[in-house]
Amino acid sequence: MSIAGIELCWLDLTLERPVSTARGAHAARPVIVVRVLTSAGEGFGECAALAEPTYGYEHAEGAWQVMESRLVPRLLAEPPGSPAGLMSALAGLRGHRMAKAAIEMALLDADLRAAGLSLAEHLGVSVDRVPAGAVVGRMESQERLVEEVARLADGGALRVRIKWSAGDPNEWLRAVRERFPELLLQVDANGSYRPSGVAELLEIDSLGLACIEQPFGADDLLAHAWLAERISTPVCLDESLSSPERVAEAVSLGACSLACLKPACLGGFAAALEARETCLRAGVGMWCGGMFETSFARIANAAFAALPGFVLPGDLSTEARFVEGDLLGLSPEVPSPAGGMPPGTVRVHRGPGVAPPPDPSALARLASRREWFPAS
Ligand SMILES: [Mg+2]
Repeated sequence: MSIAGIELCWLDLTLERPVSTARGAHAARPVIVVRVLTSAGEGFGECAALAEPTYGYEHAEGAWQVMESRLVPRLLAEPPGSPAGLMSALAGLRGHRMAKAAIEMALLDADLRAAGLSLAEHLGVSVDRVPAGAVVGRMESQERLVEEVARLADGGALRVRIKWSAGDPNEWLRAVRERFPELLLQVDANGSYRPSGVAELLEIDSLGLACIEQPFGADDLLAHAWLAERISTPVCLDESLSSPERVAEAVSLGACSLACLKPACLGGFAAALEARETCLRAGVGMWCGGMFETSFARIANAAFAALPGFVLPGDLSTEARFVEGDLLGLSPEVPSPAGGMPPGTVRVHRGPGVAPPPDPSALARLASRREWFPAS
């Protein structure tokens, strides 16, 4: 399969409900869609980089720039033999794993579509649905927090993840737990605690949380390992797990008893599979996190989350709805008792490609910037 060209499309999307986190609020959600045209057809990928470099150092504007000026020209000049070979083909260009993952996804999508295979078949997934969880942003009061959790739990979410920050009143979490004694609850601190503030964290250890996600900074593996020895709630890492090598390091240090794996942040599906192998070998449970992506990437993530070893529901529901509506003409298959699916589960896509292809007219309508890079 040879590459005829690559197109970058920039979509300025807005979340219907802005999500507030310890690192600021997410409302604007620029999405870069990569379209690759090969001798066998086309494929699509979506970039996870957010509007601002708050989750990691990558952000959408930077991802566009590095794709346009470095990654795409390099790829067109020296195409990898297969999508899985993309990371080694681009190994000379350090970092930028979200940008690379978007291109890998497009190549993989093209490959699978041409072969008539689904991502689920490619990964060896045997189940036909996966449990889905939802996210609650930081709220302004205890009442609002309890209300939001109730809305999601009533809507069928099997797990609710609460965005949390050092300094937020622990009694709010206690109130949620009292109202929902059985609900699978976890908190995501997005690295807002300092090791000196550990007493605050230990206070919520009795709430039976499924995990505390990323309490300390992304680079602070040792503090996480230290905490994991002193707290009974599982310590989960997210921002720290930025490459398969980093996952191996975190696991060997005992820095995480749970791993939030995001193919789009690890460098693509090949990298995510490597990280998953590491976790499986070490007996570390996993779940698949989200980046407020569109239904396209979410459907792809559902296939990954359907592999054995994923012990908590993933960020796979449609909580991240966009003002622009059902993006790219896709109909996300979400927790919907009316849709014939058990509540709280998402169907695993079984058609060709990583997800159903985006509707070209929706893409044309939503894209404010498009650039085509032909192979010479
Ligand atoms: Mg997180």
